[in-house]
Amino acid sequence: MRNRRTFLKSALFATAGTLMAGRAINALAQTRREVSIGGQRSPVVDIHAHCVWPSVADIIAGTPLDGVNFPAAWAMGPDRIEIMDMRGIDIQALSVNSYWWYAADRNLAARIVGEHDQQLAAWCAQHPDRFVALSSIALQFPDLAAEQLEFAVNELGARGASIGGHVEGEVPSSPRFDPFWAKAEELDVPVFIHPAGAPNVVQDDGLRGRGDLGNIIGNPLETTYFLTNMIFDGTLDRFPNLKICGAHAGGYLPSYLGRTEVACEVRGNANCANQKLPSEYLKDQIFIDSMIFSEEGLRHLVAEVGASQVVYGSDIPFNWPDTIDLIVDAPTLSNADKIAILGGNLIDLLRIDA
Ligand SMILES: [Zn+2]
Repeated sequence: MRNRRTFLKSALFATAGTLMAGRAINALAQTRREVSIGGQRSPVVDIHAHCVWPSVADIIAGTPLDGVNFPAAWAMGPDRIEIMDMRGIDIQALSVNSYWWYAADRNLAARIVGEHDQQLAAWCAQHPDRFVALSSIALQFPDLAAEQLEFAVNELGARGASIGGHVEGEVPSSPRFDPFWAKAEELDVPVFIHPAGAPNVVQDDGLRGRGDLGNIIGNPLETTYFLTNMIFDGTLDRFPNLKICGAHAGGYLPSYLGRTEVACEVRGNANCANQKLPSEYLKDQIFIDSMIFSEEGLRHLVAEVGASQVVYGSDIPFNWPDTIDLIVDAPTLSNADKIAILGGNLIDLLRIDA
């Protein structure tokens, strides 16, 4: 239920987001919020944190990818830590999103990802108590992506990978992508999936109309399609120790899980390759971020997947309502569940010293 209190919080954060975009946040008070549950300090770790590294513009200059936009609000600087302090976020797992380099050739993709990873590593080294990195590998070349992930994790200290919901239109659940999934499983690091409006699902500008539907419907749709393919194609069975994390509360999959659950049974043409019920993957290999925005939504999400599978996500620098207080105030969660969702699950998953 959206009450006045949450509205005020949203309004406050919308203001903060606007200020952040304008680089004027220094005017705000700089006290660091520290979240506690039942009198115990509860670290907040954020799986869903965007960044850009404009230095990559030098690498793509004169190539077919020249002209990529690097929004100022996504760039890293002191104001990122200030907004984290204000909201009570202790640690962000940073990732470069949009995945525009999935269109790059092998050599160019290697240089782009290399630059991103070096910049991420340098930033995290400067702020080791506040940030860890996810490597946004070149998934169009699964063998290269595996090499990149191994290097990022073993040599640069990255804690996992970040990928889009499709690679130039193809969901990466087919065996062609297995070299990457095998490496993520071998390294025992999670893969965060972030969509971009479901252009692989909705063709010919199908999500037009008021409300920015490409974002509002398209993003959860792309994540739903991705996670469902990873289940029904048997990808999660081929790599039973692989762990993936869906942005935006896992899209629509947890909302209407019952239909997915019986698909292989009731649809004679379903051609399912999965060995377990879809709900079982959601209680084990699939993690979901907390961007659900309502008390009832959070209750239902935890009821479907369990508190062990939900992790805090902010989507900074975008000005979605924050969910820390939604979790802190949730009447249906135990203190242990709250601590796990706010940060405990990610401390384990990302191997954070806390
Ligand atoms: Zn996002």
